[in-house]
Amino acid sequence: MMSYGLTTRVLHADRQGDIEHGAVHKPMHPSAAYRYDDVNDLVGVFQNTRAGYSYARQGTPTTAALEAKVNLLEGGRGTVSFATGMGALAALFTTLLRAGDHLVSSQYIFGNTNSLLGTLQALGVEVSMVDATDAQAVAQAIRPNTRMVFVETIANPGTQIADLAGIGELCRERGLLYVVDNTISTPYLYRPAVHGAGLVMNSLTKYICGHGNALGGAITDTGCFDWSNYPGISEVYRKGDPANWGLMQLRKKGLRDMGATLSSESAHRIAVGAETLALRMERACHNALTLARRLAEHPGVARVHYAGLATHPQHARATEYFGVGVGEGRREPRYGALLSVELAEGLDCLAFLNALDIVVLSTHLGDSRTLALPAAHTIYHEMGPVKRAQMGIPDSLVRVSVGIEDTADLVADFERGLAAVMDVRRPAA
Ligand SMILES: *Cc1c(COP(=O)(O)O)cnc(C)c1O
Repeated sequence: MMSYGLTTRVLHADRQGDIEHGAVHKPMHPSAAYRYDDVNDLVGVFQNTRAGYSYARQGTPTTAALEAKVNLLEGGRGTVSFATGMGALAALFTTLLRAGDHLVSSQYIFGNTNSLLGTLQALGVEVSMVDATDAQAVAQAIRPNTRMVFVETIANPGTQIADLAGIGELCRERGLLYVVDNTISTPYLYRPAVHGAGLVMNSLTKYICGHGNALGGAITDTGCFDWSNYPGISEVYRKGDPANWGLMQLRKKGLRDMGATLSSESAHRIAVGAETLALRMERACHNALTLARRLAEHPGVARVHYAGLATHPQHARATEYFGVGVGEGRREPRYGALLSVELAEGLDCLAFLNALDIVVLSTHLGDSRTLALPAAHTIYHEMGPVKRAQMGIPDSLVRVSVGIEDTADLVADFERGLAAVMDVRRPAA
């Protein structure tokens, strides 16, 4: 199977294992517990000397089948799934960092992750937030007790692109664990392992599921990080091949002890969604680029934030990092499906959103449908104006998660919305 393309391998992944009754999909296993005829096998599962399931909080055959697919997408050594992306991040930070450790994080991160870092600080973890578009800023923040560097690939909602290569190089030189949240780029456009990320987090709720009908998260160990020198691994997991230590601790401490376990039902839905990741991303990236170009020229728009535009400050970097193979060793850039728009001075972004017809006014992203919301009024409301300014989120910013609708319909909907608010502004004759 190794020589086949990504979509072929994901589609046929389940069949590589044994599926009951010749089922084409891995079944949903609802059982909370798993039994063995010979108690020695049960003992072996508990002592990690034998593969198998014990209690479903630590996974089921259905979650394992999904983990294999996500792992295949990321080209990893192993993957653990969680109930949500936040469940995955909470498990990652709390099991690998201790009071007195220092974390360097990008300041351009998902709002809830930002809030989670506040919780970590309250537990005694030191956190520095830096402008990760500049690897120098990360380098300057490093302290003797720094253990981990955390970044996102394409920031939401501002679309800043971190210096993923520079930070990877820095982490390798300093022996730091480099963690990348790959949710917005997806493993279809980018594999953080190419720049040395040791752990990759994906919110499966977003593009990988793609249909807004299940929540999930995953952490993949890429095999790039040497766990033998990592002080945060407990004595009990310092056994056998050090390459397995990190994921073992994440599965045992992060999943078993904290219990944010993905249900088999959700795992199945996400696995079905993952089969069409490439198709959906192709269409959504095309729609996003088309829309970004049209909006950038529109008199009702002051600014479009999208790395596919030549005016984006990290356009060249994004062109280098994100793309897909198009045969014969050729590669084409793709810039993702998330963009944000600032309307021209005096135009009311709320009225604009209300004038849209197809676009769904909703939070969430990575859905097949195009979704939009006013970022400062909603997902970044709790943060307040000072923090918003620091994160580069103006009050008029509209975040758009571009879906897979017919391109012309989508462009027409945005033009209709802009025309409606521009009519209001125009003084009466
Ligand atoms: C949505 C999101 C998360 C959290 O994922 P959930 O599945 O919603 O918990 C984390 N990081 C990024 C970049 C996200 O967009």
